[in-house]
Formats: sequence, C-alpha cells, structure tokens
Amino acid sequence: MTRFAPSPTGHLHVGGARTALFNWAFARKRGGTFVLRIEDTDVARSSVQSTLGILEDMRWLGLDWDEGPSLPSARDADESLFDPETQKGEHGPYFQSERGHLYREALDRLLESGRAYKCFKTAEELDALRKKARAEGKAYQYDPTDALSMSRQEVARREAAGEPFVIRFRMPDRDIVVDDLILGQVRIKRNELEDFVIVKSSRAGGGPTFHFANVVDDAAMGITHVLRAQEHLMNTPKHVALFEALDIAPPRYAHMPLIFNSDGSKMSKRDKAKAARAAARQAGLKEVPGIDQPLFDEFMAKKNDDLLVAAAIAAKLELTLPEIDVFDFRRSGYLPWTLLNYLSLLGWSPGNDIERFGLDFLVEHFDLSRVGKANARFDRAKLLAFNTDAIAELDAATFQRMLSEHLRAFHPEYDQLRGEVERFALFAESYRPRSRTLEEPAINGRFFVIEDSALVYDAKAVRKVLLKYDGRGLALLGPLHDALAAHEPWEADSLEKAIADFAADRGVNLGDVAQPLRVAVSGGTVSPPINHTLVILGKGSTLARIKLAMDRAPAMGE
Ligand code: GLU
Repeated sequence: MTRFAPSPTGHLHVGGARTALFNWAFARKRGGTFVLRIEDTDVARSSVQSTLGILEDMRWLGLDWDEGPSLPSARDADESLFDPETQKGEHGPYFQSERGHLYREALDRLLESGRAYKCFKTAEELDALRKKARAEGKAYQYDPTDALSMSRQEVARREAAGEPFVIRFRMPDRDIVVDDLILGQVRIKRNELEDFVIVKSSRAGGGPTFHFANVVDDAAMGITHVLRAQEHLMNTPKHVALFEALDIAPPRYAHMPLIFNSDGSKMSKRDKAKAARAAARQAGLKEVPGIDQPLFDEFMAKKNDDLLVAAAIAAKLELTLPEIDVFDFRRSGYLPWTLLNYLSLLGWSPGNDIERFGLDFLVEHFDLSRVGKANARFDRAKLLAFNTDAIAELDAATFQRMLSEHLRAFHPEYDQLRGEVERFALFAESYRPRSRTLEEPAINGRFFVIEDSALVYDAKAVRKVLLKYDGRGLALLGPLHDALAAHEPWEADSLEKAIADFAADRGVNLGDVAQPLRVAVSGGTVSPPINHTLVILGKGSTLARIKLAMDRAPAMGE
C-alpha cells in the first residue's frame, strides 16, 4: 500500500510527479494499492484549484489511483470534490481537511500518555531565545522544561483565559535510526531532534501540523511503504517517533535523490522567478504592465518570487520560463509517457543502458534496489530528444488526435481549423515529420489561423524572395493570382500540377514560383509543401493574401 500525498499549494511539479510515479510503479509491480491523499492542512496556502490541477495532471500523465478523490467531470463541479460519494476507497475521506476527528483521537491518546503537552511560549518569546542562543554562539534547541513543569491548574487557567498555545510532541530521549530502503540505516542524533509542534496555535487557526496529520493518516490508511524525496529525510525521525508513541508499526521509508538543474542548482519552483529576474535585469526593465510597482521592485530585489510577476515579465519580454510544473511541460507539448519515461530515470535505472521504455516496462522492472542515492540531474536537451523520437514514432492518426487535444487545451485560435476534418488532417500530417513537440505546429502554423489582414510579413523574406532581382518574385504574383483564381478543384494534387505548369510556362524553376507564393501566403520562407499550404489555407485566403503581398511588399524595400 503506497500513497502520493501532495499538498495542494500550487501546481504539481516534476519532483512531485516523480514521487507519484515511483509510488505508483512500486504498487503496480507488487499488485498493491496506490492511494492519492490530499494534504490540505495548511488552510491559507491550500486551494481547491490546486487540487483540481494536481488531479488533472495525474490523469494527463496516466497515473491512475486506486483510492482517493475523483476528478469532477466539469470544472464548475468543484463542490463535488469533497463529497464522500465521489471519493473511492475504504480509507476515506482523502482530504486531510475532512479527517479532523482522527487527529483529535490520536491527540487525546498522546496527551493522556504524556507524549504530548501544551506549550504557551509565544513566537516572540521563542524568537528571543533563538537570538540569544545565536549571540552566545550556541545551537538553538527548544527547551521543554517550562512547559513540562507547568502544573495542570496553571495550564487550565491559561487555557481558560484564552491564551494561545501549541501542542508539542515529546521526543524520546535517544537517537533515532531510520532504516531506509534506499539510504540504509540513517542515525539521527538526539541533539538534532527537538519536541516539535503537532497542533498549531489557535492564533494560526489550530489544526494538526503536516507531521502529525501525515503520520496519523499513514497509520489509518495502512500505508506500508512511503517513497518520498530526500528533502523529507529529517522529518522521518519525527514520524517514526510518532508512530512508536501511537503504538503502531511505521511504514518502510525510502528517500529518493533530489533533482538538480544542469547548472548544479536544486530544481525548484523558484527557477522561474530566477530566470525572469535575470532577463528583466538584462533588458533593464523597470516596470511591467499589470503589476504594482512595489511588488515588482520587491521581486527584483529578491524579496519575493511571485509567479505572477515572473509571468508578466516573460510576457513582456516574450520569453519562455523554464518548465518546472507538469502543466508547463504539457503546455510546451511534451507527450505524457515521454515525460514519465524521463522522470523514471531521475534516480532509477533498469540497467543495461536501457533508457527508452513505456510504462509497462517500468512496472515490470521497477525496483528500489536500483534507485540511487546520488542527486539526479534534469537534462532538458535529453528530454527534448526523447520527445522528438516519441513523436516520430506516432502514427498519423495518433499524432492528429494528440495535436488536436493539445490545441483544444491551449490554442483556441485553432478551433475552427480543428473542426474541418480534412484540412486539419492535412495540417497535422504536414507538421508531423518536423515537430519535436506538440507546441511547435501551434507556433509555426499560426499564420494559417489568423485573419488574412493580420498577416505579418517578414521584411527579410520579402526582400530576398519578392523584391530581389528587380522584383522578379513580386512580378509573378499577379499572374499567379489569376491562374489560381481560375483553378479548380482546390486540392493537393491538382494544385501541385498547376504550380508546376505555371513555372514551366514561364521557363522558371518550381522553386522560383513556390517561394514567392509561400512568402505571400505565410509571411515567411518556411511552411509545409506549398500545395499543402494552399489547401490548408483555402482558396479565399490564398487569393486574398497574394493581393495583400502585392500591396505591401513594394514599400518594404531597404
Ligand atoms: N504533503 C507532503 C509533501 O507534499 C507529503 C510528504 C510525504 O510524502 O510524506 O511534501
């Protein structure tokens, strides 16, 4: 029994997706159960939108869960998310915000056995103690003496007077050894462990902390294996101690290597802010539309990493921020199984230099003994190479379906073209051999779906192809327009012949006709084969754009 337990405080990032994938593969390989649990105890930072995003990303990746919430079929059906009827599995509900009674029960047991106690020290008092220790050059550690020596009456009096308090867990007085399935035995010394908070102060809304809810739920759900990233390693002794205090055997833990960028920095959501900040600095940007000046200034001074500011800078400078979230990779046109294939190699390998495989292979071969301890490196070029190959392997129908799906999700400007079966099939087929991602056709083919009058001509292309040699290319456009206006039927083979005949009649090469025509209808020098370009565009637009080029080109000389 494994679980993926995301905190819905943002999008699902690649690190989270890898955690989900390994837990999923581990459960599938062993015929176990894979649970999806939403850790939304941090009320201020959790959101339903994030939960929906995570569920959607999981579905897009193809990581199905045996127990957990269901993704509502419509976005506006948010309320149904928490409805117990819609959640599947016998260990629900699967939102921590709905499991308060379990935490209260466990808390009562700990309070009764003396393993948990109330502490009235305020954040300010603790801060002062921390500063004092630092000034004395000592490592700070919470000292429970005051709280533990407080009489019951005093505790009751303060509580009745409405004084805020937290509840702490009393750590056992010894080192804790975590027997990790990847790292082996990890001993954490007593002096590195302090009595930690398990219930937040009423000032902070009360409620269980991450540690407490995480352990109570793993216990209640019968989780046998917890695979999570190494950044949780220092939490694990706390969790193990909690399990012991509750008299429940802890699950087996396996801590997976961290994921680093190729420049050696840890891959994190902050990378987007970093990239945007660097670009803004280089461009000398002092403000961005839609962002309050103080927020922007703080962002530039590294006082916040606000993603809205990062996005506004990216939009202003027309740059793409590094993909971090699953959603970013999806929007950039990666195939879900390529991403999973790549993610599975971040820490694991099947051996024998095998790198490309599908989910079935992963499930068959996944094994913790082949998960490494060393940090993994996220190599974007390699992922792109995987994706390029995967797209090349798609058959026409699958590529067309996936492209249509991608355009539906991210490019409404293609809605009309997608609706025209034959033209869209030709569009997809024209771009299939030259696409590394599903996003590239969307970008490169944009000229197909804009208004004719909105076509932008690339000045260099116009000069080289239409105006050079005394406007030889431009001069062909008039007669070409008339020939095409008279041409029927508007389909690929007959258009190919018509263009060839037109060139032959004038004693010029095919390219000398095709290239001016291409610039006239697309604005640039790159498009699918010219006859396909014309069919996708349609007769009306083709003729209108030739006229447009004849109008605009003459003014575009040096
Ligand atoms: N909610 C925690 C996180 O997202 C879960 C940690 C765990 O897997 O135990 O990091």
